Amino acid sequence: MHRLGVHLSIAKGIEKIFDVALQMGCNCTQIFSHSPRSWYFRFPSDEQIDEFRSRYHRYDIKPVFVHQSYLVNLASPNRTVYMRSIDSIKREAQLVSLLDTRYIVIHPGSHLGKGEKVGLENIVNALNSLSNYLEDVEILVEMTAGSKNIIGSRFEHIEYILNNTVVESGVVFDTCHLFAAGYDIKSEEGLDRTIEEFETRIGINKLKLIHLNDSKYALGSNKDRHEHIGLGKIGIDGFRRIVNHRKLRNKPMILETPMDGVRSDEENLNVVKSLINFRSSP
Ligand SMILES: [Zn+2]
Ligand SMILES: [Zn+2]
Repeated sequence: MHRLGVHLSIAKGIEKIFDVALQMGCNCTQIFSHSPRSWYFRFPSDEQIDEFRSRYHRYDIKPVFVHQSYLVNLASPNRTVYMRSIDSIKREAQLVSLLDTRYIVIHPGSHLGKGEKVGLENIVNALNSLSNYLEDVEILVEMTAGSKNIIGSRFEHIEYILNNTVVESGVVFDTCHLFAAGYDIKSEEGLDRTIEEFETRIGINKLKLIHLNDSKYALGSNKDRHEHIGLGKIGIDGFRRIVNHRKLRNKPMILETPMDGVRSDEENLNVVKSLINFRSSP
């Protein structure tokens, strides 16, 4: 069965997400644990955490992925930002352990002009320095669109990170990012080739989540601009193949489509559901 959901806001309380998810027809979801544009981190109350855990175990809405804030940059050559980023993931991990939800999604980050090698080493060192805090946690490294100085647009980068960290780790695909990074997942042949390369370098079992977003810009544009499902450059036929691909259809899929009034999250979710070919499922 497909695991399908949208990124949800915790503005009304972290324990409230399950009712919203259920209402929208999600059976997995993703959240920010705090404002993604701020370092400020406020833990939910003990009551909220208890309520969250009890609902998490009662409802069939799993997994719940916690996405890091946008300020975190584990690749940063700036010492202050680097230390703050490590601290932010540490607190994220403490929360995820309490919530019992296991997964934190991180972006590899930007080397700010110092080069990929420096950036990759910073990431690996940061994760390894956190190993004592990541016992019940798995770090999922997200593929990126490859904008200037941003690490993570090639499988080679992710392979390096996974091979050199001692922490439990996996990978997140974002269909918009992969496409913008130059992986032609729009065509049938390109999708097969991309998955094959991923299998050879990293292994499909390491893929733990797919962000389903169409792309405003063309293949290889290196621009991270999400579009509604089917309305962008990947297109509806591209998404039909992606969500039904036998190597991908059992992976949790989360939408992060724009909030621009063109389409609601629920409408995008329903578009994806309409593409799912139930006969091809095992
Ligand atoms: Zn992300
Ligand atoms: Zn993106």
